[in-house]
Amino acid sequence: MSLAEIRDRIGQAEAKAGRAPGSVTLIAVSKQQPEDRIEAVLREGHRVFGENRVQEAAGRWPALRDRYEGIELHLIGPLQTNKARQAMELVQAIHSVDRPKLARTLARLADELGHCPELFVQVNTGEEPQKAGVLPGEADGFVAECRDLGLPVVGLMCIPPLDEEPSLHFALLAKIAARNGLEGLSMGMSGDFEQAIALGATHVRVGSAIFGERPG
Ligand SMILES: *Cc1c(COP(=O)(O)O)cnc(C)c1O
Repeated sequence: MSLAEIRDRIGQAEAKAGRAPGSVTLIAVSKQQPEDRIEAVLREGHRVFGENRVQEAAGRWPALRDRYEGIELHLIGPLQTNKARQAMELVQAIHSVDRPKLARTLARLADELGHCPELFVQVNTGEEPQKAGVLPGEADGFVAECRDLGLPVVGLMCIPPLDEEPSLHFALLAKIAARNGLEGLSMGMSGDFEQAIALGATHVRVGSAIFGERPG
């Protein structure tokens, strides 16, 4: 599939849901993709990218930023506190805020650096033991804690369990966001971004449908 096709499908899903054109941000997830594929997407004019590892992002994006204006990076994978500073200097949004220790570290660094990326709280909507994110029952408390720390929380993020109907998880995330007065909803990937848009996604994270399968 091509970037143009994905944009087209996003536009149609926005229209179908009665959403304004352009209300959904497409994050092109470039993790593990060869640089020539990423450059092809940059040359098509796309500027919003997602990476799930700080190390990989730091290795690749500074050089690309020298050559392409206006790149916006989103960290969508788990963040260790010892990588938080590097992440904050590199990305414009972090989608994986999921524990008090990380929140406190981000708040301290935001003070020190004088800026902070936009933050999404990750919610483990499927309550899967191996998956990151706060449990649905803990989300309100954790969002409040982040706000008390002065952190710029703009929304919530989820990754539904592989073997379940994603719409149930998207609807749950939207409900938790609404009751916390949060507008951002980072949900939907290659296989389900249209369903996510129908349920209010503001940010969809699409990798393989744009770039092809990740090698290896
Ligand atoms: C890899 C990844 C994606 C993109 O997945 P695709 O199925 O390739 O679209 C989205 N979100 C997160 C958190 C990811 O790690």
